[in-house]
Amino acid sequence: MVEIIKGNIIFTETPDNFEVIENGYIVYEDGIILSVTKLLPEKYSDCKIHDYGNRLIIPGFYDLHVHSGQYSQCGVGMDLPLLQWLKKYTYESEKRCENPSYARRLYEKFSQDLLRYGTLGAVVFSTTSYEGTEILFEEFLRTGIRGYIGMVEMERNAPEFIIKDLDYTMEMIESLINEYNDNRLVKSIITPRFAPTSTKEGLRRLGELAKKYSVPVQSHLDESQEEVEWVRSLYKKDYASVYDEFGLYGDTPTLMAHGVYMTDEEIDLTKDNGVILVHCPDSNINLSSGIMHSKELIEKGVRLGLGTDMAGGHKLFMGEVIVRAIQLSKLLTLQEGMSNKPLTFSEAFYMSTVVGGGFFGKIGKLKSGYELDCLIIDDDQLYREIYSIEDRLSKFIYTGDDRWILDRYVSGKILNV
Ligand SMILES: [Zn+2]
Repeated sequence: MVEIIKGNIIFTETPDNFEVIENGYIVYEDGIILSVTKLLPEKYSDCKIHDYGNRLIIPGFYDLHVHSGQYSQCGVGMDLPLLQWLKKYTYESEKRCENPSYARRLYEKFSQDLLRYGTLGAVVFSTTSYEGTEILFEEFLRTGIRGYIGMVEMERNAPEFIIKDLDYTMEMIESLINEYNDNRLVKSIITPRFAPTSTKEGLRRLGELAKKYSVPVQSHLDESQEEVEWVRSLYKKDYASVYDEFGLYGDTPTLMAHGVYMTDEEIDLTKDNGVILVHCPDSNINLSSGIMHSKELIEKGVRLGLGTDMAGGHKLFMGEVIVRAIQLSKLLTLQEGMSNKPLTFSEAFYMSTVVGGGFFGKIGKLKSGYELDCLIIDDDQLYREIYSIEDRLSKFIYTGDDRWILDRYVSGKILNV
């Protein structure tokens, strides 16, 4: 059935600027946008219209890097650097997800909160627990948001209570792939935690599995200096080349979180292999990891998305991540000069909506042929009439939160929070 939503439509066609259709119409059928117009074509005049008046219609947010098992520890242990933080808090948090009733409660809240904050799709590290990961799939399906969910592979260099036997892990990951990969919204993703907690044998088998089922891959890359040196001492090569050697660097669609300390060779490999780097600015600040050269990487042709990396990041709202990415790039400009220009608002918004949505399908733009994933923003603010639609979007991203989001559409369907 053809339906229509009406309001002030805004999205990024390219990273450089916004497309705006004031008081426009989005016509859609079975979740797919048929047309976006200023005037409603006559043939649709009898169709049902959801009239949002003067409100904004914007694409949804997509969080390309987040850890479900760490949701309970948001905002905890933020005085510690990455490797100490993992040891003191994070592995313990993830271990608790072995308990099904603990995992159920946590993941129900996690999935609902993602939706509440307007994140319509997330690429998630679960934990090494198969049962916990199953529960996470179920909660995403119940909530109705899009997901790529990875049961985490870890075999060494972490406490005994969290690591798992490789044969067992491979068998469980394969069974999750078989169970969910025909699902339209929530699928599996191959997830070595990071090179130091895998063996070469583990990485090789994960690469083979990704290839066998054409499943995407996610992991961490070049996050902190200490970690980068550790990888080099273990594998005697640069971090990206470790993944590349085992078919885990772009042979299937690949996300790598962070990329703060990239060598020129790694940048070339990332660009040539089409790997998407996921910039997680809140996390990089909280764990004192470093400042990603975001603009420089984009100018060199690398695709960048955005992630919360919660609980390295402390909040799920992607508007905050967009702001922090811009702020951090400005600090880098102050520190290193105009060879590192700041990210613009439209570039950072594009990263979260078009690059992020693009990982899930034809999603992230409000134009014909795209899936209708969008948010309705009720920005009922003082003197709103003074400002353009783009300025009103900026105000929402910088000062708004979940309370400004009136409705959330995934594939043309309004989801309840
Ligand atoms: Zn992470």
